[in-house]
Amino acid sequence: MLADKVAIVTGSVRGIGKEVAMLYAKHGAKVVINYTSHGRGQEAKKVVDEIEASGGTALAVCADVSQFEEAKALISKTVEHFGKLDILVNNAGITKDMLILRMTEEEFDRVIAVNLKGVFNCTKHASRVMLKAGGSIINMTSVVGITGNVGQANYAASKAGVIGFTKSVAREFAQKNVRVNAIAPGFIVTDMTDSLADSIKESVTSSIPMKRFGSAKDVANAALFLGSELSSYITGEIIKVDGGMAM
Ligand code: NAP
Repeated sequence: MLADKVAIVTGSVRGIGKEVAMLYAKHGAKVVINYTSHGRGQEAKKVVDEIEASGGTALAVCADVSQFEEAKALISKTVEHFGKLDILVNNAGITKDMLILRMTEEEFDRVIAVNLKGVFNCTKHASRVMLKAGGSIINMTSVVGITGNVGQANYAASKAGVIGFTKSVAREFAQKNVRVNAIAPGFIVTDMTDSLADSIKESVTSSIPMKRFGSAKDVANAALFLGSELSSYITGEIIKVDGGMAM
């Protein structure tokens, strides 16, 4: 489905990002595995090795997406190495949950910097390449960006911002054959949700119509669809992958 495509997946050493990168590689894309500087180099190499062992092609590139110049280098290293860029998956994200009365300025700023500014940084630099040849941009938002959530004012604001950003850029790029869409996962089994108390996991599960957390593969399948030609007439769309949670 993605033969000869070149894709960057930000934050792809673990969780949803890794699953997207592995699935893209399985479907023929050359994939850039992005990791942050703090000690993740070995893990990035392992993901590259895993992809190459299955006959795929991958390159590991270190960049903190919240940093404008590092995001620029991520795009330029990709184009230098693979000669083009067809798909950008803005997946990197963090949480720093706290009730608003106790939330620090740093906790607010850092979540916005990674989750929202990071999407701007990578999209802005990728657009220089993609607007010449077309492409697909996929932004990872969250159902929390639609519904809000107690203790996640910073995270929900960043993800709601990603939705507005997605729709605006989709309108700007539509005539240039660059599609811009977002995926809004519900609760997915990754390190991000692993730290939740069992009581919270139980109460969340009971509020999901399908009565289970999703898997990273469930989200990766949506990213495969949006990255491929199967979604060639879809732009500005937000696809929920949430077991019916935010209907
Ligand atoms: P995760 O397991 O915590 O993985 C997050 C990834 O993002 C890691 O690879 C991390 O790198 C990377 N990252 C963090 N800050 C970065 C930065 N500044 N620059 C580059 N990479 C950075 O999270 P996940 O559950 O897979 O979530 C992936 C995306 O889906 C996020 O945007 C998240 O908000 C969204 N999402 C997740 C859920 C869920 O239930 N899991 C639900 C809705 C939305 P390191 O390994 O170096 O830290």
